[in-house]
Formats: sequence, C-alpha cells, structure tokens
Amino acid sequence: MALTGLQIFKLLPKTNCGECGIPTCMAFAMKLAAKNADLAACPYASEEAKKTVGAASKPPIRLVKIGPPGREIAVGNETVIFRHEKTFVHPTALAIAFGDDEPMSDASHRIAEVREYCLDRVGEKLRLDLILVENFSEEVAPFAALVKTVAGATGMGIILRSSNPAALEAGLKILEGQRPLIHAATPANAEAMAALALKYNAPLVARAATLDELAALTAKLAGLGVKDLVLDIPADNAAAVLQNNTLIRKAALRNSCEPLGYPILNFATGHDAAEVVADACTYICKYASILVLDRMQFELLLPLLMLRQNIYTDPQKPIQVEPKLYAIGDPGPDSPVLATTNFSLTYFLVSGEIENSGVPAHLVIVESEGLSVLTAWAAGKFTGAKVGSAVKASGVESQLNRRRLIIPGYVSQISGEIEEALPGWEVLVGPGEAADLGPFLKRQAAR
Ligand code: SF4
Repeated sequence: MALTGLQIFKLLPKTNCGECGIPTCMAFAMKLAAKNADLAACPYASEEAKKTVGAASKPPIRLVKIGPPGREIAVGNETVIFRHEKTFVHPTALAIAFGDDEPMSDASHRIAEVREYCLDRVGEKLRLDLILVENFSEEVAPFAALVKTVAGATGMGIILRSSNPAALEAGLKILEGQRPLIHAATPANAEAMAALALKYNAPLVARAATLDELAALTAKLAGLGVKDLVLDIPADNAAAVLQNNTLIRKAALRNSCEPLGYPILNFATGHDAAEVVADACTYICKYASILVLDRMQFELLLPLLMLRQNIYTDPQKPIQVEPKLYAIGDPGPDSPVLATTNFSLTYFLVSGEIENSGVPAHLVIVESEGLSVLTAWAAGKFTGAKVGSAVKASGVESQLNRRRLIIPGYVSQISGEIEEALPGWEVLVGPGEAADLGPFLKRQAAR
C-alpha cells in the first residue's frame, strides 16, 4: 500500500543532515511518497524503514529490459495515468513481426529495411526497437534459422513467439545472453514457460483471455520465480484493447494491484493500413509498452514514430536547441539574418524551410526556455530587447554588408523595440507560418 509523506517521515532519522541530497528528512519523505527518490540515498535509514518504505516505494509497473547489451530496450516503470500529471518515461517499443513461413530471401530484404529504418526529427533519430519472430510453421528448424538470421543481421532485441516449447528453446539457445522476450505463458503452459524463462534468464509474456485470468497467471509465474513479465490480453477490437489497457494501468497505479503491475504488449494488425495506424496510435497513447506491427510500411511508421516522440517528451522539459548563430546553406555578407526561439520544433521547421528555399541565411536562435514563438513572447522570453541582445552576442554583425533581420510574423509588434535595440538594422516582419518562409526569402533575395 502507498504511504503518505508523513508516514514515511516518521520512519526516517529526522536529523536533516542533507546527505541524501535533499535538505530535510521531511522533503526527502515527500519525494519518496511521490516515488521521485530512492530510500537508498539515505545512509542512516533503519532496517524497519527499508522494509516498510522499500515495499511502498516499489515502482507500480515493473521495469523490464529486453534485448542484448548495447541494444537493450527498457519498458514499464510508468508512474502516472495521464502524461500531464508528470511524464511518461519509457517510450512504446515498436516491433515488426516476421514469420518463419516466409521465404528467407523475402525476409532478408525486409529485415535489412527494419535495421536501416531511421527517421530524423527535431534532432532525434527515431528507429524501430524490436523484431518479433513467429513460429507459424510450428517446426523447430525454420524458426531457429529465422531467429539466427534476424539476430545476426540486426543485433536488435527479439520477441520469440511460438506455442512449441522446443522451438522456443532452440531460439533461446541461439540468443543466450541477449534477453529475448518469450511469447507466451498461458494458464495451460505456465510451468513449462516459467522453466524456460528462468533457465535462459529471459523476460516472459503472460497471456490470458480475461483480466482475472491474467492476474492469476502473473501471480503464479511470480510465485515460480519469474519476475520480468509483460502482459498480453487478446481482444477482438481496438475499443476492447483500450479498455483492457486502461483497466490494467489504473489497477496498477491507483489500486497497487501487483499482479497487473507490468508493461503491456499489444498487436496492431489488419488489411487496412489506415485502420492499423488509428489502432496503433490509440495503443501508443494508452498504454502499450510494446506494440507489434505485422508489416514494414513506411507511411505507417511515420505517424507512429512522430506520435510516440510527442507523447514521450517530458511536458515539463520542452526539447530545445542551443541558442547561438546557425549558418543555413552557405550565407555570405549580403545574406539575411532570421531570428526565432530555441524550441526544437521551431528551429527544425525554420531551418528546414530556409534550406529548401535555396536562399542561404544566418539564423539567430534566441534563448527562450524552449518555448514556441507566441508562447515565448507572451511569457516575456522573446522581446525586442532579448532579440537585439542575442543578435549582438552572436557576432553576426561583423560578417555583414547589409543588416537585415527577419522576425516571425506572429511577433510583428516587437519590430519597433528591435529597431531601437539594433540601430542601423532593417527589421522585416516575416510570415507567420514557417511553410511560407521559402517564397518570402526568394522575394527578399530578388530585391
Ligand atoms: S540523509 Fe537521511 S537523515 Fe539525512 S536528511 Fe536525508 S533522509 Fe534525513
């Protein structure tokens, strides 16, 4: 059961020595209650405190690691139901499924696509995380051959899916030390699957038809010694998946239901790509830790990776770029200077549009705590004085014959302030939307 800060405080030494990195025992207790601190940070905690607080501050959703060292994927450890309460921490791991009934020549091509796939967005490289190898043939040899090929070609973490324990064991032998995820223990085969998971030190999926059966299954597997579990509950449609995922997350977080305190695995499959995207987006938002797709389709991956990046960005820490002068293209002394905020998305949109326009330019990024233009202006972080100081500090003035500064159209009202801060500069109000920047720059270049 969760303890309050006051209950935890009563168990602490109350000496306020500060060695835990927090000035007082009370503040430390509050952090422990919010699961934002580890009792191990207090060197003077009593055995009673360790026993009581340790159990209460255990993460409500277990952290499970899958994959070989260096390519390991961590899932779980979430502490909130809604992202805005704090943040979601471990992004949904995206997996692509391969079947051992497919000719190896076809599979090899797709495996290479999975390995190479990378979407570069706002300074982050977004990739696929796992590969699921499915034993459609129900035979050991083709399954083992595909596992070996996938592991050798990608080095990625693998989910082994089979109802044949011999095939699973063959895959586990090939992947020894690489922590593949075994799919799946069911109420009918729990002992055999637990034995495999323990023998090969691999995480295990628990799969059952209802939430009650699933909770009973995970309790049984935990009793057998398997700690790293992932939940899978089959459902006919996206609404049922959403309902199950939500009930599991709430049970784990609000009711401290240990048997459901594990990451969730979902499948998004079907003929209609638009439907698959819609389902997959729903699961990423609520609350898939691992999402398996049955195809490698670029137009399907793009929205999913972008959504995942947005959902798993800490809302309290906007993604920022370094405030400084950036050269876009090969700007010279007659090139224009643009100024905008250090919100990553703004930077990448603006720099991308400048690049696409073919008009080289200097881009001054103003420190504005990672806020977008209008928000930064409203918060007093993107004022005429701040823009003027940033331009001066950038040193761009000494590189120019012609001093022209283009500011975002949404903050046209600060153009006068900037002119005061930057005597001798011509301040131009650019378009409101980055998409209109290219034609604007071309028109300016022709002047
Ligand atoms: S280290 Fe322990 S005793 Fe010292 S302030 Fe932190 S919680 Fe209190």
